[in-house]
Amino acid sequence: MKQTINIFWFRRDLRLNDNIGLYHSLKGDYPVLPIFIFDTSILEELPKNDARVTFIYQTIQDLKKTLETNYGSLLATYHKTPLEAFKQLTQDFHINAVYTNHDYEPYAKQRDKEIEQFLSSKDIIFNTFKDQVIFEKNEIVKQDGTPYVVYTPYMKAWKARFKNLSLEETTPEANFDNLYKHTPTKNFTLEDLGFEVSSQEIAPYKLSSERILNYEATRNYPGKDSTSRLGPHLRFGTVSIRDIAKQAAAELNEVFLQELIWREFFMQILWHFPRTATQSFKPKYDNIVWRNNEEEFKKWCDGNTGYPLVDAGMRQLNASGYMHNRVRMLVGSFLCKHLLIDWRWGEAYFAEKLHDYEMASNIGNWQWVAGCGVDAAPYFRIFNPTTQIEKFDKDLKYISKWVPDFQELTYPQPMVDHKEARERCLSRYKEALS
Ligand code: FAD
Repeated sequence: MKQTINIFWFRRDLRLNDNIGLYHSLKGDYPVLPIFIFDTSILEELPKNDARVTFIYQTIQDLKKTLETNYGSLLATYHKTPLEAFKQLTQDFHINAVYTNHDYEPYAKQRDKEIEQFLSSKDIIFNTFKDQVIFEKNEIVKQDGTPYVVYTPYMKAWKARFKNLSLEETTPEANFDNLYKHTPTKNFTLEDLGFEVSSQEIAPYKLSSERILNYEATRNYPGKDSTSRLGPHLRFGTVSIRDIAKQAAAELNEVFLQELIWREFFMQILWHFPRTATQSFKPKYDNIVWRNNEEEFKKWCDGNTGYPLVDAGMRQLNASGYMHNRVRMLVGSFLCKHLLIDWRWGEAYFAEKLHDYEMASNIGNWQWVAGCGVDAAPYFRIFNPTTQIEKFDKDLKYISKWVPDFQELTYPQPMVDHKEARERCLSRYKEALS
C-alpha cells in the first residue's frame, strides 16, 4: 500500500521560517514530504560555474541538514523537469495535495499550469500561496481596477494598505511534527547536476537599523558598502519579505522601504503586462533602429569602454556578480544611448551575470534606463559618464578598486566621444518616436 502524503514544493522560498505555503501544508491531515526539483529545462541554459546554482545547491544541503537534525525528516530532490518529477512522485506515493508558493514569471506561470493540469488528472489538489511579496497580482490597483503604471501613486497606495496589514498574523510557527519522516531519493552532488562549485560567492545580506537609517544619505555612492545586498536572498527566498518589510517600516526613514516597493511595482507590471518580457512597454520605442555593433558590445561587456566609471561597473559585475545600483543606471544608459545597442542585449547580459538577477526588476530597470518602460527616464536624459564620477565617486575609491589601470597608458581611450554620441542618440530616438 502506498502511503498517503501531502507535498510541499520549494522553489523561490528556500527557508523554513515564515514560509506561507510550507506552513499551510503542515496544517493538513497528512504527513508532508518537502521536495526541490533541479529543473533541467532551467539548468541547461546556465553557465556551468553559475554562482546562483552553487548557492541554491548549498542552501538545499543546509535545509536538508536542518530537517534531518531537528525533525528527523529529509528533503527529496529531483533532477528532472517538474512534470517528470511529479510523474515519478505519483508512482511512488499516494498524494492528497501539493502545496507551493506563487511564482509570477512567464515560464513559472506556464509550468504551474501544466503541473496543475497533470495533478488534477490524478485528483490531486494543487494549493498555492502568496509568499515572496507583500502585495501581488492585482492587490494594489487604481480605483477603476486598472494597474498602476506610475511608481509614486502605486507606492502611496502600497504604503496605505501596508499600514492596515497585521503582519503578525501571517507569521505563525509551523507544525514541523507533521513532516514525513523518510524519503527515497538520492542526494545529488553539484557534479551530478552538471555544475562545478563557483569561485564567486553570494554575499550574506546586511541590515541593521543604522544601515536603514543611513540608506538615503549613502546609497548613491558606489565606493561605500552601504546597501543591503538583499537581492539574491529575496530572489531565492532565503529571507522572508515580511520580516524585512516590517524591519524597514519600523525605522524613521522610509527610503529603504520604498526600494522594496520598487521591486513589487515591477513584479506587478510584468504580471499585468507579460509582453514586456521581450517588448518595450511603450511600443513606439520598438521602432528605434539600434546600431547593435558586436565589437562595441564586447568592449562594454568586458569593461573596456575607456570611461572609467562604466568600466568599473562592468568589471565589478564580471568579477563578483554584483554591481552598485547607481552604476547599473550609468552602464545601462551608456549601452542604450551612447552605443545605441538594444536594451535587450544588456538585459540578457545582466541576467547571466547578476547574482540578484530577477526578471521583473531587470526588465523594468532596463526599460527604465532605455526610456521605453513604465515611468521611465525621459529619453533625452543621457548620463554623462564623466560628470557622474564627480557626483558619485569623487575620491575615485570605486574606480581605483575595479579599474586600477585607469591612469595608465594601457587603459583604452574613450570608445565614443560623449558629445557626438549624445547627439546621435537624440536624433535616432527622435526618428523612432516622431
Ligand atoms: P538595496 O539598495 O539595499 O535595496 C534593497 C532591495 O530593494 C534590493 O535588494 C531589491 O530587492 C530592491 N530594489 C532596490 N532598488 C530597486 C530597483 N531599482 N528596482 C527593483 N527593486 C529594487 N534588482 C534586482 O533585484 N534584480 C535585477 O535583476 C536588477 N537588475 C537591474 C538592472 C538595471 C539596469 C538597474 C538600473 C537596476 C537593476 N536592479 C535589479 C535594481 C537594483 O540595482 C538592485 O536591486 C540593487 O542594486 C541590489 O543591491 P542591494 O540588494 O544592496 O539593494
